[in-house]
Amino acid sequence: TYVVTDACIRCKYMDCVEVCPVDCFYEGENMLVINPSECIDCGVCEPECPAEAILPDTENGLEKWLELNATYSAQWPNI
Ligand code: SF4
Repeated sequence: TYVVTDACIRCKYMDCVEVCPVDCFYEGENMLVINPSECIDCGVCEPECPAEAILPDTENGLEKWLELNATYSAQWPNI
């Protein structure tokens, strides 16, 4: 899965949402998250993010963000 990280906080771009083929972005108060159980790992959103906030969960040190994306996507509305 891909993961949204802190560079997204208060970001105004929605380019990722437009390109995601499975609509797995969710929006909360100050950032977007990806639902890890819906993401198909296509990678299309990563280069579209102007803030470089989206990373593959295979990168080191993203455990905390992966957990947060999972938790928030269960609570927040799909966009
Ligand atoms: Fe959507 Fe693909 Fe990005 Fe996953 S990797 S959030 S499926 S665009």
